[in-house]
Amino acid sequence: MKRLFSPERQLGYRILRWVLFTAFFAGGIIGAVQIYLDAQRVSQELDERANQTLALVREASAQAVYSLDNDLARQVIDGLFAQDQIRYGAIKHNDGTPLAERRRDATPSSYRHITDAIFDSTRRYQVPLMRSAPEPAQYGQLVLEIDTIYAAELWQERAALIMVFGIARAFIIGLVLYLVYYLLVSRPLGSITRALAAVNPAEPGRHLIKTPPGHHRDELDTWVQATNELLLSIADVQQKHQAAQDHISRLSHYDSLTGLPNREMFLHILNNAMKKVHRQRPLLAVFCCGLDDFKAINEQYGYMAGDKLLKDIAARLQSHRVQATMSAGRLGADQFVVTQEHLQGEDEAKATARWLLETISRPVRIDGHELSLTATLGIALFPNDSHEADRLLQQSEQSMTLAKIQGHNHYQFYVASVDQAIRDRKQLERDLEEALPHQQFHLVYQPQIDLQNRRVIGVEALLRWYHPSRGMVPPDEFIPLAESNNTIIEIGYWVLHEACRQARLWLDEGHQLRMSVNLSPVQLRQDNIVPMIMGILASHQLPPHCLELEVTETSFMHNLDDAIGKLSLLRDQGLRIAVDDFGTGYSSLTYLKRLPVHHLKIDKQFIQDLLINEEDTQIANTIIDLGSSLNLQVIAEGVETEEQSVYLAQRGCQLAQGYFFSRPIEPANIPPFLRDFVQTTAQGSELL
Ligand code: C2E
Ligand code: MG
Ligand code: MG
Repeated sequence: MKRLFSPERQLGYRILRWVLFTAFFAGGIIGAVQIYLDAQRVSQELDERANQTLALVREASAQAVYSLDNDLARQVIDGLFAQDQIRYGAIKHNDGTPLAERRRDATPSSYRHITDAIFDSTRRYQVPLMRSAPEPAQYGQLVLEIDTIYAAELWQERAALIMVFGIARAFIIGLVLYLVYYLLVSRPLGSITRALAAVNPAEPGRHLIKTPPGHHRDELDTWVQATNELLLSIADVQQKHQAAQDHISRLSHYDSLTGLPNREMFLHILNNAMKKVHRQRPLLAVFCCGLDDFKAINEQYGYMAGDKLLKDIAARLQSHRVQATMSAGRLGADQFVVTQEHLQGEDEAKATARWLLETISRPVRIDGHELSLTATLGIALFPNDSHEADRLLQQSEQSMTLAKIQGHNHYQFYVASVDQAIRDRKQLERDLEEALPHQQFHLVYQPQIDLQNRRVIGVEALLRWYHPSRGMVPPDEFIPLAESNNTIIEIGYWVLHEACRQARLWLDEGHQLRMSVNLSPVQLRQDNIVPMIMGILASHQLPPHCLELEVTETSFMHNLDDAIGKLSLLRDQGLRIAVDDFGTGYSSLTYLKRLPVHHLKIDKQFIQDLLINEEDTQIANTIIDLGSSLNLQVIAEGVETEEQSVYLAQRGCQLAQGYFFSRPIEPANIPPFLRDFVQTTAQGSELL
């Protein structure tokens, strides 16, 4: 295990140091006091023994000095010198002259410098020598000097022992205390510290700390329990924090409405998918699915319904994710994206594209309405188109944008020219906004012919944009653009005004012509479209039956009730309604029966291959039959040959328009055309 502290910082070591120091100090002090007391006792004993000695020989000494007995005095003094500690002894007369006296040198000792300071080198005692008979009087004195070294050495030995034992005792107590501390505190603390150090900060609540054995219900146990509670609450906070983080991460990586990965997350998924290239099936396709006219759903049914539809579409796209090779994401309000891995060739991508178109456009009931949307797909392929995920995604988006210009509900693969086309489109979009104020628009008119009596019954107004640098821009190119950025509203308003003005002019010249004007679905969705059209008619004093509005099937798709309501109002005012490009959309009988329609216009794609392609011929026939059974006049557009014209007339189609009769022409050319056409027809009839 990693050592947590340096040894000198360990509590046990520090406590040992303190205990030893205190024990030594206390032992030293106590020892010193004991030694001091012992010294006092020794000193007292010295005095007592000296006095005892004096008392022993005092009588004999008094006798000797009284009787001036030198021998006795000497014997007494010699007797005293039997004791080693006596250094000097004397029996003196009162005048101080000695009767007997003896001295010897001090006993040498290396401790003297200490002991002499405590006990003095020698001690001197003296008692008077008295006699009571014949009469009490002092006859002399007995003097004694004692060498203290003998008692002092003994004292010194004892003092040394006292000190040694005192210190040894202190040392042993210190060690015992340390051991007790180590067992009771330091060791369990160490095991708790090691357990704490082993706690994984990522999962603090996973392994809790155990109370060391023998410490239940003591302070360490309380500490361990408190620490465990802390670890558990940290784990709890961490868990909540992680949950919040996950939530934030979900919000930042996933679309909150549909739960699909957002652009950033999808790019990540795409990047990963690109790394897992399959050797036999190396192709990966990115499908950008742009919902067609999603705005209309929001406008007509509200945002709640729009959101529900988006969720439903997202769920359908996700359900396909069970096939592990597909993932879906949401790029923007009306854009989904799907990626498919492990494709063998473009054909597989095409099949998926068809599946996507069909899946997205499946109708769904929301709030009592049957809603459906088509989508237009842009497809980019890895590794063919790009090796970078973001570029691939961009290519699919650009292809989708371009595909939308060519119409709805179809798919388009990325081609290198898309980049330039997108730049051109952006430029065109900017130029388009300038076109109306700069008067770059004008209308041309294509006559509509009654096939039975070969008379011109009306004209279709077709918009032309003369771009200052590009020249003529075809309406198929700029009308979808104008619809996507809503400039069609202003442009359409201008077209209606201009067409009605022209119709009024021709009427004043005596030409009774019905004016057909194309009305974009975007225009029809406007709330004020009915009063606006009526206002235009009134401003040119044009009878309403002179104006026909051509609407396409896409106009009814999102909100049939709304379209029916507005068109019925217009029909009630006397206007005529035609369904343009019939046969290319849903061509549903249900709506056709409910719509206030007068004409069906067979799309030119069915007329062009009439009599060549059996399928197209059948479609044209069916539409003609449908018209007659619903009591609607049918107009065939795109009639280019006499055979087509004759066939259609025989088959029961009442009206036609097309290059065979006339191309769309300038308004000035219409009166001469009317004149010439009548003449040619008349000549034709005469010939017949
Ligand atoms: P549309 O309403 O179906 O117009 C018929 C288109 O077919 C016109 O193309 C016309 O020039 C063309 N056409 C007529 N006869 C023949 C023929 O015999 N053969 C061939 N190949 N084509 C023929 P144009 O003028 O290019 O218009 C294309 C589309 O642009 C129109 O289709 C219409 O959807 C739209 N458009 C044109 N003008 C307006 C307008 O003022 N407002 C709106 N909203 N859309 C317009
Ligand atoms: Mg038309
Ligand atoms: Mg048409």
